[in-house]
Amino acid sequence: MISVSKKDTRTGFDKFGLKEALLRGVRGAGFENPRPIQAETIPAGLKGRDVLGLAQTGTGKTAAFALPLLQRILEGRGGKGPRALVLAPTRELATQISEEIRTLSRFTPVRMITIYGGVSIHNQIGALRARPDIVVGCPGRVLDLLQQRKLRLDEVETLVLDEADHMFDMGFLPDIRKILSALPRNRQNLLFSATMPKEIRRLADDLLSDPQVVELADAMPASTIDHALFPVAEGRKRDLLEHLLRQKDCDSAIVFTRTKHRARRLAEQLEKAGHRAVGLQGNMSQGQRDRAMKGFRARRFDILVATDIAARGIDVSGVSHVINYDVPNTPEAYTHRIGRTGRSECEGIACTFVTSADTGWVRATERMIGAPIQRRKVEGFETEKFLKLEPAQSARPRPRPRPRPGASATDPRPEGQARNRRSRPSRGRSRKRAA
Ligand code: AMP
Repeated sequence: MISVSKKDTRTGFDKFGLKEALLRGVRGAGFENPRPIQAETIPAGLKGRDVLGLAQTGTGKTAAFALPLLQRILEGRGGKGPRALVLAPTRELATQISEEIRTLSRFTPVRMITIYGGVSIHNQIGALRARPDIVVGCPGRVLDLLQQRKLRLDEVETLVLDEADHMFDMGFLPDIRKILSALPRNRQNLLFSATMPKEIRRLADDLLSDPQVVELADAMPASTIDHALFPVAEGRKRDLLEHLLRQKDCDSAIVFTRTKHRARRLAEQLEKAGHRAVGLQGNMSQGQRDRAMKGFRARRFDILVATDIAARGIDVSGVSHVINYDVPNTPEAYTHRIGRTGRSECEGIACTFVTSADTGWVRATERMIGAPIQRRKVEGFETEKFLKLEPAQSARPRPRPRPRPGASATDPRPEGQARNRRSRPSRGRSRKRAA
């Protein structure tokens, strides 16, 4: 008799009690062990608890909310309307979430639709007739369809708000509040945010009841990112950019500019200079944006010149450099932008060009992350002013606070991995905790 040795297909996800069809999806996605946020969020999510996840994209939070949500759908019975609603700030993030949910639910009959503006509403109305179980969408179009009575949300059992702080930045909170009023009161809420500005704390207070708080240390730059400030005069930014792009280790870069116009112009200039560069900004049509993202993902372009539209949620592996050609509008946006590199525990480099006009921003950002950011001088680009730009006193690292009871503080970094090292600082903000 021939004995067939059975391959062990167990993964670290088996312990959650997920349905076999979902475990197959997990294996198909190539996930072997749960990431820290998944280890903490999935059990709470499966118990039906509300969750407040303080984590940025890249930590594995999509599967952290998707798996409990899918399990719940598989365990219950479908009605006429969707049973889960996932709201995300940008079309790119909504698409990315849908793709991950599709991968994880591949072996289940769960139906999903993605809805966002900038594309035909009629196709989306048609797709809604097929009674999807999950709607993933951006608040504007979701509200539009709701008000046109093409979308009903009265059977939603799970609501996910992803990148809530970004939704606030984009002015979506009023739309979200209107959407919330169309949801049944009795439901599970999963809220994810990298930072907790007071508006989001207020939203969390209104929305969540006795939440499990899962806090990753990474509301700050990941330790895999070597990030530094590059003092430069405004008129020399192009030259400094060329200098950095020419470095041997620069395989693939996202360059951030302050305005759509600057992104478009810089992408054109780089292309003329012989780089494989493409722009990504809000004035482009959805088709153009998709082509740019696809081309960058497929490595047909080495450089993506973007406005903040691309700063959050976009998960492109292998981005070696993030270059902030202009500083972002807020200190919080810094973490999001530079988080486009150093993803999935790979190393990344983030360079931020700072001019004499940016000293206030530098201080506020260092205060937010609780640590000084290294200054780097590149020969030929020193400016006298910046030699005086010393780290803010209040930004000096402080000792890690002791964990408070009831809260889960997880730092996924291996010890000693940090390059721009900092002890976990107190951010001078209070955070909502699990009761
Ligand atoms: P997210 O934060 O959800 O955008 O996830 C970032 C990336 O990590 C995505 O490409 C995921 O597919 C991947 N990922 C999520 N969870 C795991 C896991 N447990 N093991 C390996 N990769 C994962």
